Amino acid sequence: MATKLEDIVSLCKRRGFIFPGSDVYGGFAGTWDYGPLGVALKKKIMNEWWKFWVEDRDDMFGVDAAIIMNPKTWVASGHAATFADPLVECLECKGRFRADKLADGINESVTTEEFHNLHAKCPTCGKENWGPIRKFNMMFQTHVGPIVDDTSVAYLRPETAQGIFTNYKNVVDSIYPSIPFGLAQQGKAFRNEISPRDFVFRSREFEQMEIEYFVHPDTWEENFEKLLKSVHEFLEEKMEIPAEKIHELEVAPEDRAHYSKRTIDVEFDYPIGREELMGIAYRTDFDLGNIQRESGKSMEYRDKMTGETFVPHVIEPSFGVERLLMAVLASSYTEEEKDGKTRVLLKLPETLAPFRFCVSPLLKNKPELVEKAKEVYDALRAKYGNVTWDDSGNIGKRYMKQDEIGTPKCVVVDFDTLEDGTVTVRDRDMTEQTRVKIEEL
Ligand SMILES: [Zn+2]
Repeated sequence: MATKLEDIVSLCKRRGFIFPGSDVYGGFAGTWDYGPLGVALKKKIMNEWWKFWVEDRDDMFGVDAAIIMNPKTWVASGHAATFADPLVECLECKGRFRADKLADGINESVTTEEFHNLHAKCPTCGKENWGPIRKFNMMFQTHVGPIVDDTSVAYLRPETAQGIFTNYKNVVDSIYPSIPFGLAQQGKAFRNEISPRDFVFRSREFEQMEIEYFVHPDTWEENFEKLLKSVHEFLEEKMEIPAEKIHELEVAPEDRAHYSKRTIDVEFDYPIGREELMGIAYRTDFDLGNIQRESGKSMEYRDKMTGETFVPHVIEPSFGVERLLMAVLASSYTEEEKDGKTRVLLKLPETLAPFRFCVSPLLKNKPELVEKAKEVYDALRAKYGNVTWDDSGNIGKRYMKQDEIGTPKCVVVDFDTLEDGTVTVRDRDMTEQTRVKIEEL
């Protein structure tokens, strides 16, 4: 049976993964809050990413730029002029929509005339009475400093990439990396989406993990292939996303950003359909060229071996944390029929599960069992950190809860433990129970 988005949303709220933003005040469109389990999962995904792309490689380095950047950044990058969606208003019910989401076969550059000719109906009131299409810039505006006027306007960054590009020169001048090299950043980004939707898939505040990989212009193709291969390795081996659910979409020239000579959208079969999980784009020297022009500073790189001087070209693998998290949840969410009952479990990789072990005493009213169980719990916590304790309800209920939050192993201390120092270890996926010596955990 195919997993439905509602099943995942419901589990996320029920078990403390993800809540609607500002829930207590009735929510706040396009925002989501993470609870204890969600934070644990998200941080683990981000840490695995950082380990794979930065720590385990000798050609990648991290940066962490400010969220509010000099507004010149967004002039140079083109966001100030063109980071806009086509907004259309229904003149009957005053509903506002993204025009390119109301009909097939059009994109963000659809004109008023083209849109009117498509005779789309309003999704809210069903009528067809549209106003003109207006360009709606998706950057969140704010003012920096005590004076609110045109000179104090600044923006919350709509992507993390520019915080990398603007630090390229600082990094080159301070640590002299050999080309090719990559700079990686993780962090929040903000887009005032006209219609946020599909759980955390499209929200107004989200988190990105981006790499700008700087190469000699002649070598972009081979480096593109290498990075793409690493993307698959990361998704399939580290995130354990099934390869058959991952698809490459070679973006057609007319759909690519004008500066990109090659873009691949890596898509995943989400419960909402096949959608973009991450993208990898060859951006030429577009960004460094823009910065060079806007700042008046040279972005040239001088090759230490050959002495050749050039502005590097860039390949950008860009991941959305929430989209990856949704793909991990969708891949691991499982419903199994057993003895006429439905068992829900998250088959999360051990490295991503919020808790590696759950420890409990068979009976909570037997002090000798509780004491021994605490001992085991403390030892495992000291060794692994992410271990949870559960002595609520009966064993069956505890297993059910731990299955739903993806805990791979449940350790139960019983009377035999007091005799022979072994515990019952119950496996999440197989549900089989084995006796294991405490020191072998
Ligand atoms: Zn309407």
